[in-house]
Amino acid sequence: MSSFVGLPSHPVVVSPQDPLNPLPDNLTESKTVSVWYRGQRTRLTPEDYVESALRAAPDVLVAPCDGQTPRDCSEKRLMKSAARSIEYLDVCLRLMEEKHSGRKTKTTMLLGAVEGGRSRRWRRWSAEKTAERAGELDGFLLDGFFLAEEDEEDLSAVAGLIRDGVAPVLPADKPRMLLGPCSPLAVVELVTAGVDLFDSSFAVSAAEKGHALTFPLTQDQSSSPGLWIDLNESSLYKNDFSPPLKDCACPCCQRHTRAYVCHLLATGELLGSVLLAAHNLHHWFAFFDHLRRSIREGGGDLQQMRERLREAASTNREEDH
Ligand SMILES: [Zn+2]
Repeated sequence: MSSFVGLPSHPVVVSPQDPLNPLPDNLTESKTVSVWYRGQRTRLTPEDYVESALRAAPDVLVAPCDGQTPRDCSEKRLMKSAARSIEYLDVCLRLMEEKHSGRKTKTTMLLGAVEGGRSRRWRRWSAEKTAERAGELDGFLLDGFFLAEEDEEDLSAVAGLIRDGVAPVLPADKPRMLLGPCSPLAVVELVTAGVDLFDSSFAVSAAEKGHALTFPLTQDQSSSPGLWIDLNESSLYKNDFSPPLKDCACPCCQRHTRAYVCHLLATGELLGSVLLAAHNLHHWFAFFDHLRRSIREGGGDLQQMRERLREAASTNREEDH
């Protein structure tokens, strides 16, 4: 699959939900897993989900789960989501066992989903029940948080819940993944709380909005123009012949200007968001290189990184007002 889409060195992850698209509420049913893509869904039994996902031979498979737990849903809904996800996980484990019996190595890593929304009680319950099956799992998905963009209070509540209620229960030697757009500040907070793996949906989502990511990676870049610049703003950028981000080595910044991308966006050319995705993903991966290096060196500069990102976010907020 990864060769087919031209990304042979990248892992393929299959999960029930499209991290880039918010889900409608209250559509969960008791016997099927809703698999979502671009606002539409297909209902699959847990057995059919696993069977069809394994046909794509993904590197990582998220076990079938019920993670449709928006921020305002009830305790009763959270209880059902957690219980149903464990039920589905057991179906999945049985099927995986049948698939892999007699083989020496598994080709697909399996992640168990920890649900429970923002309820300390159900998060803990779900983490404990999923951890009981850790011997058969390769890692965990911390699912169903629906982080609100730019809500620092909510972010610190979620980070606290993961740090105190979930991370201590899960085995330390298996990775924990969180899917969906997370701002760079959210990534730093969540890494500190115990999350290991993220996707790149923030970078792609920014490109689709016409934003070029410009947040600072190092102290030298602390005078950055904010987390991003909005290249839809033709009054600001139509005559700006500098690259989207100074000193960026990506193919977009090496060859094109803010003015050109701004023109592509204004005329509705698909190339505009394609070029921005190339830049944003390059910047996003560079950010993760910095994070990995910082963690290897003991995480001493994470606090400075957090401050730089907060400052960049406030620049964007001031521009909005
Ligand atoms: Zn670039």
